[in-house]
Amino acid sequence: MSELPSHARVVVIGGGAVGVSSLYHLAREGWTDCVLLEKNELTSGSTWHAAGNVPTFSTSWSLMNMQRYSAELYRGLGKAVDYPMNYHVTGSIRLAHGRERMREFERARGMGRYQGMAIDVIAPSEIKARYPFIETHDLEGALYDPNDGDIDPAQLTQALAKGARDLGAKIVRFCPVTAVRRAGDEWVVSTPKGDIRCLKVVNAAGYRAKEVGAMFGRDIPLVAMSHQYILFDEIPELKAWSEAEGRKLPLLRDVDTSYYLRQEKNGMNLGPYERDCRAHWVTADDPMPEDFSFQLYPDDLDRLTPYMEDAMARVPILATAGLSKVINGPIPYAPDGNPLIGPMPGVPNAFEACLFTFGIAQAGGAGKVLAEWVIHGETEWDMWSCDPRRFTPFASAPDYAVSKAKEVYGHEYAIHFPRHAWPAGRDRKLSAIHDRTKALGGVFGAYNGWERALWYACAGDDVSESSTMTFDRDGPWHKRIREECLAVRDAAGILDLPGFSRFNLDGPGAAKWLSDLITGNVPKPGRIGLAYFADRRGRLATEMTIVRHTETLMTLITAATAQLHDWEWLRTALPADGSLTLIDRTAEYSTQILTGPASRAILADVCAADLSMPWLTHQETEIAGRWAKLVRVSFAGELGWEIHTKVEDTAAVFDAVWPAGERHGLKPFGMFALDALRLEKGYKAWKQDLSTDYSVLELGLERFINWEKGDFVGRKALWQAIHGKWAKRFVTLVVDAETCDAPYMSTVWKGNRIVGETTSGGWGHRVDKSIALAMVKAHLARPGTEFEVEIFGEKRRAVVHDDAALWDPENLRLRS
Ligand SMILES: Cc1cc2nc3c(=O)[nH]c(=O)nc-3n(C[C@H](O)[C@H](O)[C@H](O)COP(=O)(O)OP(=O)(O)OC[C@H]3O[C@@H](n4cnc5c(N)ncnc54)[C@H](O)[C@@H]3O)c2cc1C
Repeated sequence: MSELPSHARVVVIGGGAVGVSSLYHLAREGWTDCVLLEKNELTSGSTWHAAGNVPTFSTSWSLMNMQRYSAELYRGLGKAVDYPMNYHVTGSIRLAHGRERMREFERARGMGRYQGMAIDVIAPSEIKARYPFIETHDLEGALYDPNDGDIDPAQLTQALAKGARDLGAKIVRFCPVTAVRRAGDEWVVSTPKGDIRCLKVVNAAGYRAKEVGAMFGRDIPLVAMSHQYILFDEIPELKAWSEAEGRKLPLLRDVDTSYYLRQEKNGMNLGPYERDCRAHWVTADDPMPEDFSFQLYPDDLDRLTPYMEDAMARVPILATAGLSKVINGPIPYAPDGNPLIGPMPGVPNAFEACLFTFGIAQAGGAGKVLAEWVIHGETEWDMWSCDPRRFTPFASAPDYAVSKAKEVYGHEYAIHFPRHAWPAGRDRKLSAIHDRTKALGGVFGAYNGWERALWYACAGDDVSESSTMTFDRDGPWHKRIREECLAVRDAAGILDLPGFSRFNLDGPGAAKWLSDLITGNVPKPGRIGLAYFADRRGRLATEMTIVRHTETLMTLITAATAQLHDWEWLRTALPADGSLTLIDRTAEYSTQILTGPASRAILADVCAADLSMPWLTHQETEIAGRWAKLVRVSFAGELGWEIHTKVEDTAAVFDAVWPAGERHGLKPFGMFALDALRLEKGYKAWKQDLSTDYSVLELGLERFINWEKGDFVGRKALWQAIHGKWAKRFVTLVVDAETCDAPYMSTVWKGNRIVGETTSGGWGHRVDKSIALAMVKAHLARPGTEFEVEIFGEKRRAVVHDDAALWDPENLRLRS
């Protein structure tokens, strides 16, 4: 066993598949002076008992990318590190019981093909050909993934460990981390074997990540869920078939019933995600033991029985097999079921690689991503889906985290529909006028915990959860969204937008400091401006609105979901001399969007503001005797103002604006309508269209770059890019869509080649067209170019629109 070194560049805490892969990838990038500390033996956490399935399927582009990378890595790993291991690439069959599931599969096939994987959608007859023991009478079809397989998790971890050690990295086992502290620019990590100093530290402590996070003062939203699988004895027919065929059966996933079934030697392994699931270690009478290494929870056969019965009907030979063993172990869940990989919020030089529900399938990709964060401070792929900053502190409240973890676990295989709002953990943060918007018919969704109306239902409209289980554009909401959009076009609409994130920046030199961070100009006092922040590679990091109050004071406004990301982006760049102050004022203010041609007349009825002040200005006023800030801007693309109020004044202001507005045809509108309206203007949404997968130039944001102002973050890379070749270019497409608009990451085709992907899609009610925002190969991004967009497996004609918005291209309505 290695002695504990006194220094390391990086300390990784936790020796499961993920921690060891992180160490391996750090070492592969040349960071070999890194040390992994493991409380017990390698794999003693969740890794040792994992079933070892390695799927590539996901409907998230970034998760699929990470899993694809893992599968490719594992294929060559044994040879690369000279550690032979059991990795069976058997392929998998994912069953569809209905039409919407087939659509989900078609979409995944498109994404998978784009990533170079030969995923296919197959008919019931083909299922039977690939899996002779199955009953298919009630099936619609299936997804066949030839890359799926299973690996021995312990061997995988040991192979990664060997690779890391061979490159010079160190692993110290039976060495629990008990405390951490800062000493100057270093971390001191304490263990019973002594202290170790390092520059950077990674929390890869699996289901104990919350405990380790607490050492850093960080409250991780982790809940340990009990997950079981059952091993069955040998089945003679299966043995005979396998021997005759010289292969194993493909792994079967009945995702609508919620289990997988895998051939394990000549028996079977059945693993359900039970709706009636169980969280552990969340109540005072069920504390997490000091040490749970290589341990399991007691079997819970009652929870398994319905899934066993279903699987036995689906694959009748299973009914002939005896049950040999149940494995019931902990899996850590975040409130959305995705892992945390990236910088630890609020803590310098500390990172997280934990909360993996599919940590065997994702360990390879996660190691790559983590190593990039640690070494370069940025990642090759946009990894927002796994970024720890996507959760703000409310998500760590135990009741919230537990209800979300149970919801996600119980629906691990569920389809994610675009109009569906998951019901658990709701009403955490309510607008000051929530009661009013609810009374007006608001149907709500949560944005960083804030409840916002998605659309407004009328009496008799179906607002059931089941009505949203469709990819179709049409549904109870569609007519209402149209009415909302047309009210915004013809009269006015009001949208309650609680939780808009806002940070006040103050101090001499604030404008210069900000100018160095953004690609464009800081607006003058009294004006507002949209600002784009690039990373060093010139890729789009984030977007904020700057409201400049005075020479030294400004407010930066950003999306509710971006609160922690953008806060960290700004905070970590602040000058060390304390000359600037940055304060998060999100909780103190609220915003309403009032927009449409009648909005000026409505405001004139309730305040004395100078409503002739032009677009992109702001002013203070009083409404109902309360302070309000009017910001003349509209994401809906009409004349309009954001009305910013103190939270405690919001109701009084709304109660004045609403009756005044009703006289002018004012209607409430929701987030769905806003999304439709912004698409018609070609306005991009953060982490949908605006991601680090694209450069600021590729996104068509040249007009927000000021090359003359001197240096700024990303300038060098962007300057080089403008004189070189661009891979992609942003376009607006008008699509001949039928019942569905293009979902995120639909492939764009030219002839028989994929030439790009959509980033947003929807119906524009003012222009009566299906619109997609897309990134296509730069040389094809010319107005009038015809493409096809693959929407749930069907290719639909799409034409590049002019390099201007579909609605009000001259911005005349905005400026009126
Ligand atoms: C029954 C079951 C079946 C599963 N099947 C699959 C599957 O088929 N495919 C799949 O992809 N995933 C599967 N999983 C999930 C998978 O096991 C986990 O996602 C994965 O093992 C997580 O790896 P990890 O490295 O993040 O965490 P762990 O393996 O839990 O490793 C964390 C390590 O940190 C160590 N540690 C904790 N605290 C400290 C400390 N203070 N100091 C030092 N070390 C510390 C622990 O001892 C542990 O070894 C399954 C899980 C279960 C329970």
